[in-house]
Amino acid sequence: MILEQFFEKESSTYTYLIADEQSAKAALIDPVLELSEFYIEQLNARGLTLVYVLDTHTHADHISANGKLRELSGCTTYLGEESHSECIDKKFHHKQLIKLGNLNITALHTPGHTDDSYSFHVNNDKQDYLFTGDTLLINGSGRTDFQQGDAGTQYHSIFDTLLSYPDSSIVLPGHDYHGQTQSTVANERANNPRLQVKNKEAYIELMNNLKLPNPKLMDIAVPANQACGKL
Ligand code: FE
Repeated sequence: MILEQFFEKESSTYTYLIADEQSAKAALIDPVLELSEFYIEQLNARGLTLVYVLDTHTHADHISANGKLRELSGCTTYLGEESHSECIDKKFHHKQLIKLGNLNITALHTPGHTDDSYSFHVNNDKQDYLFTGDTLLINGSGRTDFQQGDAGTQYHSIFDTLLSYPDSSIVLPGHDYHGQTQSTVANERANNPRLQVKNKEAYIELMNNLKLPNPKLMDIAVPANQACGKL
């Protein structure tokens, strides 16, 4: 498996390129519009064909490159079935298997940050990888105060779905604001301050008192992302 992590600094977004070496089929998870040409160069340099763009959710802080990359490469764009996008090619549901050559990507519905939040699981050479979007961040979790967010739902997504994978699973988040690139399930369970709560009620209390400002681009990004990047 080929796995690359790219960083977009305006929104501190991580984009992942995953590819099956044998078939040269590739997918991009959460690509950012401004870097569309860069991703195409990266794919070309590796001799890969972009088959899918998978967005973990309808983003509020950046515009997805899904529509642009579809134009440039003819790839299939995906979002969760709860999303309101009408231009997306396909919508995945909980536990849906997405085949990328010899790789199996499993979509996991992990709502809470938004109602259409998904994570992706890949197992390759006995190593588990979790692309956790904004559901589980390194030492954090995605805010739950807009876009049908729900802290109680997120508690279940994190504790019942994501942390049910083996301790050694590699956690690859949708953002990081402190230069951290990856973590593990064991590390997050032990050290993530948001996860050191006694129960679901304590998690809800914590999340409902974060008092964060709205993302700068929110009023532009959400409608644009419901229209495959068209402003
Ligand atoms: Fe988000």
